[in-house]
Amino acid sequence: MRILVVEDDPDLGRQLTEALEQAGYAVDLAPDGEEGLFLGETEPYDAAVLDLGLPKLDGVRVLEKWRAAGKDLPVLILTARDRWSEKVAGFDAGADDYLTKPFVTEELLARLRALLRRTAGHANAALECGDLRVDTHAARASVNGEPIKLTAHEYRVLNYLMHHQGRVVPRTELVEHIYDQDFDRDSNTIEVFIGRLRRKIGSNRILTERGLGYRLIDPKAEKITE
Ligand code: CA
Repeated sequence: MRILVVEDDPDLGRQLTEALEQAGYAVDLAPDGEEGLFLGETEPYDAAVLDLGLPKLDGVRVLEKWRAAGKDLPVLILTARDRWSEKVAGFDAGADDYLTKPFVTEELLARLRALLRRTAGHANAALECGDLRVDTHAARASVNGEPIKLTAHEYRVLNYLMHHQGRVVPRTELVEHIYDQDFDRDSNTIEVFIGRLRRKIGSNRILTERGLGYRLIDPKAEKITE
């Protein structure tokens, strides 16, 4: 999953980027409203963390413009303490959740997980596909209760497929959602990650739909319907 952070405070921006990367996300940081607007309009993010007090273009205007352009990504706004009118303006502009500064990073991560889950149609905190399970809080996966050791990129690929299980995910879409903007992207490495994942979680769980992409399935459930 790939997150856009729009925050002008350099310390907070860096701190958020590090915490999100640690939690298994690809992250792009925009230091002002104009760049945030541009990135949100041109790159396919799974969610955005948007500060409202921003130079060049304020956060409420950024959000209004995203929504007017048909961007429906979940957006968590950051507001200054005791500025209730800012929150109201943020929600009216299309925000999905908010946090008041200062906040604890753990709370931001928890709210973001909930937003991403609900957007993908999952109500439960742990994502499951048969006996394959991804705990998005701990950023860990297990099969039949046995923990699976994954690298950061393998986890990102699996987490994205878990959020979109049953659907064919094109390779280009995977590339766009597991790497940040500055990463030297190579779609061939996706094949390598998929190969490694198959060895770790079982070869029959990720199907290759030739020319289309990859589909994560529960092989046991799939057999019954065939
Ligand atoms: Ca600010």
